[in-house]
Amino acid sequence: MAPKTDIEIARAARKLPIQEIGARLGIGAEDLVPYGHDKAKVSQRFIDSVQGRPNGRLILVTAINPTPAGEGKTTTTVGLGDGLARIGKNAAICIREASLGPNFGMKGGAAGGGHAQVVPMEDMNLHFTGDFHAITSAHNLLAAMIDNHIYWGNALDIDQRRVVWRRVMDMNDRALRDVVTSLGGVANGFPAQAGFDITVASEVMAILCLATSLTDLERRLGDMIVAYRRDRTPVYARDLKAHGAMTVLLKDALQPNLVQTLENTPAFVHGGPFANIAHGCNSVTATTTALKLADYVVTEAGFGADLGAEKFMNIKCRKAGLAPDAVVLVATVRALKANGGIPKEDLGAENVEALRTGCANLGRHIANLKAFGVPVVVAVNHFVTDTEAEVEAIRAYAADQGAEAILCRHWAQGSAGIEDLARRVADLADSGASAFTPLYPDEMPLFEKIETIARRIYHAGEVTADKAVRDQLAAWEAQGYGHLPVCMAKTQYSFSTDPALRGAPSGHVVPVREVRLSAGAGFVVAICGQIMTMPGLPRVPSAESIRLNAAGLVEGLF
Ligand code: ADP
Ligand code: MG
Repeated sequence: MAPKTDIEIARAARKLPIQEIGARLGIGAEDLVPYGHDKAKVSQRFIDSVQGRPNGRLILVTAINPTPAGEGKTTTTVGLGDGLARIGKNAAICIREASLGPNFGMKGGAAGGGHAQVVPMEDMNLHFTGDFHAITSAHNLLAAMIDNHIYWGNALDIDQRRVVWRRVMDMNDRALRDVVTSLGGVANGFPAQAGFDITVASEVMAILCLATSLTDLERRLGDMIVAYRRDRTPVYARDLKAHGAMTVLLKDALQPNLVQTLENTPAFVHGGPFANIAHGCNSVTATTTALKLADYVVTEAGFGADLGAEKFMNIKCRKAGLAPDAVVLVATVRALKANGGIPKEDLGAENVEALRTGCANLGRHIANLKAFGVPVVVAVNHFVTDTEAEVEAIRAYAADQGAEAILCRHWAQGSAGIEDLARRVADLADSGASAFTPLYPDEMPLFEKIETIARRIYHAGEVTADKAVRDQLAAWEAQGYGHLPVCMAKTQYSFSTDPALRGAPSGHVVPVREVRLSAGAGFVVAICGQIMTMPGLPRVPSAESIRLNAAGLVEGLF
């Protein structure tokens, strides 16, 4: 018999009514805003009411440099939440919402996999509670107001060539990357070059994920830079008086969504910023709320630890005053072999030697994470093709690096397969061993921040940038943005900016091609390499095999 697909496993889940999941966290039915039977938002009133409580332990799940298939951070986050619950702990997980676009492109959702999933996975991977619709609408309202302002006389003196606010849509659609707007005559305005990004790349998304209250949300929206004048002074969303209406559109979206895992562990699924031009973590509201309600909160950061964990620490934790109590570094036999130079087609065959070579990547991540002052444990996410010798080689290597590597079978077995990791993580988190410190202080100049990340995390020899880039950073410092953290945008496949350079390269050059200011989100993006903010669909998109069956159930969604 063929193994069950993710959607078949998810469909067989014994879901509890969402009120029961809320009750496990002490949220009364009156404070859950239900979206159907198995999803709810947590009311702002309730969130406000628990602020005085102590925090639970925060556990970050991150990974080594992955293969394009992904190494199971979400799957492990979900599995570990269930594992902690299984050993008697009061646990919750926090992950990101799925972007609609990629679901119809390549296979692979955002709800975890196998016996470690969040349900209802169809909803989570599709429209869910409408947050992305709200973000798309708020974003595009601002775009419409900019063009409208220019149409009615442009009192703010916006330089039409320097409008930096694009439009967004939650779809993979390469045809919209660069477009011309306002064709068709005088009544339609002034023709201009414009373009679309995918919704998760919107600064509004990043803001929703970093905002701590509706007031903070509105202030940040007002702070966004939408265009420049001829004299290069910025025009803010506030100048267009757009931030109030945008906040109205986002008021429900700011409330975190509560769902459950296959084993009924509470799961907050909220926000989904890009992991390259944004910080790639679920919302601060969800994480801080979960910490008030559960003793252990497991959360995930996008991409490998060089990007995801670094931004989690230096952007999210710094800004939200959070500190992780333990970090789980997910490794797989296949990704270690890939880091050891094995091509994709050969990753299924045992190759202990290549795996040992690839372990340099694991070692680098362990050392990097320890440099943040947090205790690290390695989770070996088991695949059926893994051999005993390969797993043993990882254990031995990790032990040499002063970290324990624990084999986890949550994908195949659910919580029963991850008890050892759950125990170890609980012990580490309770040990008080964490002495978290971000990598750099707020006061450090922007370029030095980039250099610090490149040298300390990527082990680069040098960071290069054109004069234009350096001048831009200096100008922002002069305008009062120098204290912001830096959001690195580079390939997730390598410590370097070359995706083909696997393992643990040293002494490479990190070229900063472009810098962008996300003044509302509160970071400066340093773009090192090719970054796509509107993906396309592959030759055979998974949309071709997604359909409703005779029973009205979704088929083909992973
Ligand atoms: P990440 O969050 O790191 O991108 P995911 O947890 O989303 O990774 O997993 C990526 C894909 O790999 C998913 O389709 C998931 O079902 C699959 N997967 C994860 N762990 C395993 C495993 N142990 N065996 C087989 N497939 C797995
Ligand atoms: Mg993930």
